[in-house]
Amino acid sequence: MVMQSMLKKLAKEHGTPLFVVDHKVLRNNVAQFKKYLPRVQPYYAVKANSDPAIVKTLYKAGASFDVASMPEFLIVHENIKNLPEKERQAYIWDKIIYANPIKANETLVELDPYKPLVTYDNYEEIEKIRKYAPHAGLALRLKVPNTGAMVELSSKFGAAPGEAVNLIEAAHKAGLIVEGLSFHVGSQCTNFENYVQALNLAASVFREAKSRGYQLKLLDIGGGFPAPYDDNVEPFKALARKLNAELKRLFPKEIEILAEPGRFMVATSATLIAKVIGKAERDGKQCYYINDGVYHTYSGVIFDHCHYPVKAFKKGPTRICAVFGPTCDALDTIGLSEELPDLERGDLVYSENIGAYSHASSTWFNGFPPAKVLHINQ
Ligand SMILES: *Cc1c(COP(=O)(O)O)cnc(C)c1O
Repeated sequence: MVMQSMLKKLAKEHGTPLFVVDHKVLRNNVAQFKKYLPRVQPYYAVKANSDPAIVKTLYKAGASFDVASMPEFLIVHENIKNLPEKERQAYIWDKIIYANPIKANETLVELDPYKPLVTYDNYEEIEKIRKYAPHAGLALRLKVPNTGAMVELSSKFGAAPGEAVNLIEAAHKAGLIVEGLSFHVGSQCTNFENYVQALNLAASVFREAKSRGYQLKLLDIGGGFPAPYDDNVEPFKALARKLNAELKRLFPKEIEILAEPGRFMVATSATLIAKVIGKAERDGKQCYYINDGVYHTYSGVIFDHCHYPVKAFKKGPTRICAVFGPTCDALDTIGLSEELPDLERGDLVYSENIGAYSHASSTWFNGFPPAKVLHINQ
C-alpha cells in the first residue's frame, strides 16, 4: 500500500489522472501464491492488465502467463525471445498457455511455429487446429459451476463434462494430443465450493479418459482467486488450504497443476489518483466531477461489476455524495453513495486496489485520454 503523502507527491509531480503501479506488491503477490499453493504454477492472465512492465516484473518473479490473443502472446514472448532456440521451445509450455478456446484461423497459423499449448472446447475447433496449428498441444476447457462469482465466465466457454472424453478422443483421432483439462470457476470467486466441485468434475473426467485409454497429464484450475477488496473476502490462505487438500486427494503427484490468476496478481498493485474538476448540488445531493471515469480507469464499474470506493486526502465530516467521470455520458458514473468530506475544485481523490480490469479497458471516449501510468519500486 502506497502512503497517502507519497501519492499526493506523485500526483503533484506527474499530474492526474495518475495510475500508480507498485511492483513490490506484484512481486509479493506472486510470492504469496507460490507459498500457499506450492504445487500450482501461476500463469498470470494477461487480460487483467497487459502493461508490458507488469508482465516483465511478474516474469522475473517466476510467473508464467495465460494469453488470449496474438498481441498478448507477443508481449509475453518478448521476455523469452532471447533464449537459445532449443531452450525456448522446451520452455514455451512452461511459460505460456493460449487459453482462448476460440481462435481465428489466422491466429492459429501465426501460433503454430511456436508449438504452443492451447485450449479448446468443441469439435469445430479441433478441425481448425488440425488444419492450421497441427503442432499445438491441447487442453480441454470444461464447463463448471460459476455460482456466486462476481463475474460469470461459464456461459460462453466450456465443454459439458459428459462430452469431455468424446472431445478428447476426437482430438486424438485428428492426430492431436490432449495434455489435460482446464476450467474457470468465475472471476472474483468468493464461493470456494466452486473450486471443490470443479476439481471433482475434472477428476471424474481424468478417470473416464484413462479408462478409454487417454492418460491426461495436466490440470489447469483457471483463475477466479479473489482480490481482498473488502473484509468479506476470506483470506487466500483459506482457499489455498481447501485447494491443496482436494488436489492431494484427487490428483496424483505426477499430474502437473497450473492456474491462471489474473485479478489476484494485479488488483492490489495499483492506485488511481484523480482530481475534482467540478462540483454541483443536484436534488439535494452533492455531486463531484473528477478527471477519470468509467470509460477510463474506472471501466471495471461497468465491465467488471466492481465498485471502487473514492477516497479523499482531505479530512473532515463526510456525507454521501455522487462521483461522476469527465465525459458527457450519464453512464459515466463512478458511484452514487461515496462518503466524502467537503471538497473543492482541484482537490485530489484516490481509489485503491484498482489494478485489475481497469486501465486495460480504458478508451479515448469524448477525447479524454487514459490515465498516465507510473511504475514504482520496479
Ligand atoms: C479472465 C480469465 C482468467 C483470469 O481470471 P481472474 O478471475 O482474473 O483470475 C483466467 N483464465 C481465463 C481463461 C480467463 O478468461
